[in-house]
Amino acid sequence: MSIGKLPVVSIVVPCYNEEEVLPETVVRLTAVVERLVADKLAAPSSFVLFVDDGSRDRTWELIEKYHRTHPHISGLKLARNAGHQSALLAGLKSVMHRTDCAISIDADLQDDPNVIREFMIKFHEGYDIVYGVRQSRDTDTFFKRFTAQSFYKMMKSMGVKITYNHADYRLMSRRALEQLDRFKEVNVFLRGIVPMVGYKSTNVYYDRHERFAGESKYPLKKMLAFAWDGITSLSVTPIRLVSTAGFLMFLVSVIAGLYAIIQKMVGNTVEGWTSIVVSVWFIGGIQLISLGLIGEYIGKIYKEVKHRPLFIVETELIPQVSRMAVGAVSELGSGSGGSGGSGGAGGAGGAADPGVGARADLQPVKGSE
Ligand code: UDP
Ligand code: MG
Repeated sequence: MSIGKLPVVSIVVPCYNEEEVLPETVVRLTAVVERLVADKLAAPSSFVLFVDDGSRDRTWELIEKYHRTHPHISGLKLARNAGHQSALLAGLKSVMHRTDCAISIDADLQDDPNVIREFMIKFHEGYDIVYGVRQSRDTDTFFKRFTAQSFYKMMKSMGVKITYNHADYRLMSRRALEQLDRFKEVNVFLRGIVPMVGYKSTNVYYDRHERFAGESKYPLKKMLAFAWDGITSLSVTPIRLVSTAGFLMFLVSVIAGLYAIIQKMVGNTVEGWTSIVVSVWFIGGIQLISLGLIGEYIGKIYKEVKHRPLFIVETELIPQVSRMAVGAVSELGSGSGGSGGSGGAGGAGGAADPGVGARADLQPVKGSE
């Protein structure tokens, strides 16, 4: 975002069978956009993008209708139900090159849209990612609260960096979106991937309300599948647990073996008992260790095939090397390889080796690593 120019803001809203809540969501979100524009926090071309995730009700008809009548409303229709995360990603990818920052929010108004203003203030302060974090879960049932909190704790214990009590209500700058786009994985668990982008981030706290209308599109079955997806697409700890169990079992097999041999020596056993007991534990241990070992490799393959970016550059302090200079460097490079000592190649300075001179030109690149 250049100084003095207002950022184009887009609000991305995945919708699956949301005809009941959509009219109210449109009113609230357009009001937010209009206020941002009036307060000079966003450019007038800012917009709300509703992503219809293959709804079977009138959701898309409504989106089309609002698009015709509201200048700030646009729509994207997916051909089939792709699931919340994929629908959201589709929206973010679609706005990526048309916006300076994108805010993702659910259609059901559980997350207070007025908080977007605070997101924008943080964005203007220079944050690339702003996480909306629920202050309280008073409106959730005990069951939802308990399962959600256990989930966050479990993810943390498995080494997954995830913001506690943050769902998918967040702001991302354009450059953060562009980096997110470099994650090519198919098992999308955005709240686990976004922190991997890095960049300057902060939290904004808010109270989460009850769904405005309609019912949850996340029944228990989908919720468990989502949690399982999150764990298995971000962590290989479950595989490690198999190896650990294998080693424990192996240890037990040694103890059980000693015990069985002592029992045999004392004469407390029937014929064949010792060999059976020892082999059962021993083979069990070996099998689990082997499984864990194979799992380790599968885990590695799994990480490989995701093609996640290895690093994300935050700032570059590299002087622009002009095309001519680059040409000169490559010419000098090939020259020194081939024709040995060609005397006064560059002329200027005489004593200096042209190759060294060229490299010295590029020194700042090394210095900035
Ligand atoms: N959603 C979606 N595709 C789906 C399921 C849900 O786009 O397959 C959207 C839904 O319309 C809503 C958001 O994802 O905007 C979150 O869903 P919901 O509010 O039902 O989940 P909950 O808040 O109950 O966890
Ligand atoms: Mg909801």
